[in-house]
Amino acid sequence: EEKTRETRPFVPIGMVRLSTGLSLLLSLSFTQVSSRCSIQTTRSSPEILGWRSKGLRSRGLGHRGVTQRESWKVGSARYNAEQQAPVSKSKTSSKETTNSGYKKISALEQAKAVGVAGTMTALSYSDSVPVPIRLLLLTYMIWSSAEYLFHRYAMHAPYNSWGDKCLRNYNRLHMAHHGETNEDMTMREGFNPHGIYFSYKTSAISMLAGALLLTAASEATNIDASLVTILSSTVLTSIIYGLFWNRFHADSHEVKLEYNDGLPALDFLKFDNKIAEWLLANHVGHHDVKGVGNYNIVLPGADHVFGTYYER
Ligand SMILES: [Zn+2]
Ligand SMILES: [Zn+2]
Ligand SMILES: [Zn+2]
Repeated sequence: EEKTRETRPFVPIGMVRLSTGLSLLLSLSFTQVSSRCSIQTTRSSPEILGWRSKGLRSRGLGHRGVTQRESWKVGSARYNAEQQAPVSKSKTSSKETTNSGYKKISALEQAKAVGVAGTMTALSYSDSVPVPIRLLLLTYMIWSSAEYLFHRYAMHAPYNSWGDKCLRNYNRLHMAHHGETNEDMTMREGFNPHGIYFSYKTSAISMLAGALLLTAASEATNIDASLVTILSSTVLTSIIYGLFWNRFHADSHEVKLEYNDGLPALDFLKFDNKIAEWLLANHVGHHDVKGVGNYNIVLPGADHVFGTYYER
């Protein structure tokens, strides 16, 4: 007789995992950043070889070549959201091209990106594709979309909107980051270094959110990955992502940071290839268009799909 029905647990295991993860995520998100940290800030010339001289910015200062060893103290490393003056939402320019030549992609380019995303989705549903590849596809799509959505709807949420209300600390910190960035991507004196890197707490939040989304996606695609598979791949992804982000973002703003409350910006992670050049042009564009596009930073894709990618 059919016994499989009786052995099925009353509450599906996926639901148990999802709700456990969700409550962990919520409790972590609502705790304030309270870790005391020491941060050493140094201005440095870009590790990414001569990107200025390659004409990424028309109004840039040109490659300095000399490392300015100017450090300054960060008084209280604790970030206080209330002290941060709200930066008014940047107005979307009616022009499609900015002064430095960043231009929105065409509808055709966007349609191609939608096609690629559709193919990736179809492959992740297909039984004839090996499970590790399906998981890899899902992981990329999840992390690229999450990077996009969080940056667009939380960090750039309009002042006092729901996204701003729920994730005010991230929003204020990031609005300050835009305000503190000079036109040539260097940082103003006295900038808040927390706007440059992921703290351990932020990495933990990204890891939990990633695990939740991958659980949901693996249920939806009938991969039925084990908890061990999901957790180990997500831990690995969040560490790689955090290391890459912390190194890349500091580099694009020409600062060197040493801190004890986040994954380090490792020196040996050198990015002086075509991919790094592309990513850099992408993030320079994000600051150039005043945060109305190029929300992806290290995992491109979602911007193209949503039609908010600007290129030169
Ligand atoms: Zn800190
Ligand atoms: Zn930036
Ligand atoms: Zn931004």
